[in-house]
Amino acid sequence: MSNFTFTAPKPVNEPVLHYKKGSPERKEVLDTYKKMYTNPINVPLYIGAKKIVTKKQANMSPPHDHKHSLGTYSLAEKKHVNEAIAAALEVKNAWENTSFEHRASVFLKAADLIAGPYRAKINASTMLAQSKNIFQAEIDAACEFADFLRFNVAFAADIYAQQPAQGEGVVNRLEYRALEGFVYAITPFNFTAIAGNICAAPALMGNVIVWKPSDHQMFSAKVIMDIFEEAGVPAGVINLVSGDPVLISNIALTHPNFAGLHFTGSTEVFKNLWQQIGNNLNTYHNYPRIVGETGGKDFIFAHSTADIPTVITAITRGGYEFQGQKCSAASRIYLPESIADEILNGVVENVKSFSIGSPEDMNNFITAVIHENSFDKLVHYIEQAKKDTDVEVLIGGTYDKSTGFFVHPTLLKTSNPHYTTMETELFGPVVTVYLYEDADWEKTLELVNTTSEYGLTGAIIAQDRMFIEKASARLRHAAGNFYINDKPSGAVVGQQPFGGSRASGTNDKAGSPLNLLRWVSPRLIKETLVPATNYRYPCMD
Ligand code: NAD
Repeated sequence: MSNFTFTAPKPVNEPVLHYKKGSPERKEVLDTYKKMYTNPINVPLYIGAKKIVTKKQANMSPPHDHKHSLGTYSLAEKKHVNEAIAAALEVKNAWENTSFEHRASVFLKAADLIAGPYRAKINASTMLAQSKNIFQAEIDAACEFADFLRFNVAFAADIYAQQPAQGEGVVNRLEYRALEGFVYAITPFNFTAIAGNICAAPALMGNVIVWKPSDHQMFSAKVIMDIFEEAGVPAGVINLVSGDPVLISNIALTHPNFAGLHFTGSTEVFKNLWQQIGNNLNTYHNYPRIVGETGGKDFIFAHSTADIPTVITAITRGGYEFQGQKCSAASRIYLPESIADEILNGVVENVKSFSIGSPEDMNNFITAVIHENSFDKLVHYIEQAKKDTDVEVLIGGTYDKSTGFFVHPTLLKTSNPHYTTMETELFGPVVTVYLYEDADWEKTLELVNTTSEYGLTGAIIAQDRMFIEKASARLRHAAGNFYINDKPSGAVVGQQPFGGSRASGTNDKAGSPLNLLRWVSPRLIKETLVPATNYRYPCMD
């Protein structure tokens, strides 16, 4: 019980460090990388206060150095999943009754640990697990993760402050209860910050979590759990169960106390999970909340008035940063014929200048793609493009998986706006360009709007204000995050709340109060001060 109203600290985005040659942060992260590379670990299951190392283990390797082992992680059996749910439910009552200021302090402390003593660890583990170069690791694992935690505390305080009007003789209160049950969190490989936030956001609102991380993020998932533990997240509030996603999901989604799914990953997986939840509806005590952010086929549309260097940079960064493995990565590009050659030459020159290799070498802009399946899938599309007559490989098209899963950034030009790589999410460094006649820009906007099933991110680049206004209206539903004169990636917490609709997800905007609202079930409490004692209306004699 607190006899005060807690004022949340005003959040500020965590400054991005530069890791220049000779800087202390560069030395610290490289030392930590080396230490982690040479000291294999076992990642346990985190169930209540227990850390369980199972008999069955799976290997962890850096995607850029797949013959090297970073250690192993534990594979949960059915009993572990049931134990994790039980551990979550056991602490549920105590956690949701913990005052907001204490829940907030735990996650504010986690943010300060990330920005401070754990910065090198969370970055180095992300460089190793997901093959991010230091810049990409820093903006994700350190900055975005700390931002999520700090901004969410402020958003939660604002939500709690929203109260109903008072009436004569009554007082009204809205209590933002946690959901009645546990939240099942399933996370993707590509952002350490997303993995952490998917657990932390519902936990901040008083929920308890069973977390199934991606097999390909386990090495950095361990650092997230270390941080939560040191920050004081009580045992059982966030439980980690790794292993077979189908086995784990079958148990979580058939439990009567399943109260919500917080998912980020691919579209097909999300659709199947939704279907499964629908089929089990009679099992649950409540209608579960379903939040899912999924795939994208994100576009850049340049108008004939576009500034050419802006387009070149937007395609280069938006398409190839982190090997195109951001859900927001630009992968279909529409260029007007009058300026297309100059833009394409510029992108080709940039791609030629990319250095490719391990993230340990900080000159590398491009590192490896996440795993062999992804590598093989990308190779399949690249080889098909070499054979197809309606597409031309402008640069790239080579690959090598002998040491790491390296796919050379590839630029395709197609005469077919419905060519497969204009429609399918490849999740790799392959960008496809379609040229349109300058005068056909309106028709081409319609093409942008209707080509893909997704609606995640997109960008228009132009100087003509009339065009900008028209295109913004025509593409209203084509992207949940819409960018003008920029690349379609790089959302910053608190500034560009993130998510898309159509097949891209439920658009509950991670890094905003909209997401937090999904993890509460409000109770209205009306108290009558001097209750009526006579049923008759005044109009009655
Ligand atoms: P993925 O779908 O392969 O895996 C995501 C998670 O789902 C993992 O934890 C995985 O183990 C689990 N999973 C896989 N099959 C499952 C099943 N049958 N049942 C239950 N869980 C299952 O995705 P990924 O490769 O890790 O991540 C890339 C995808 O995520 C891309 O499609 C990308 O666009 C999307 N993504 C979207 C956003 C967004 O905000 N919209 C952000 C990041 C990534």
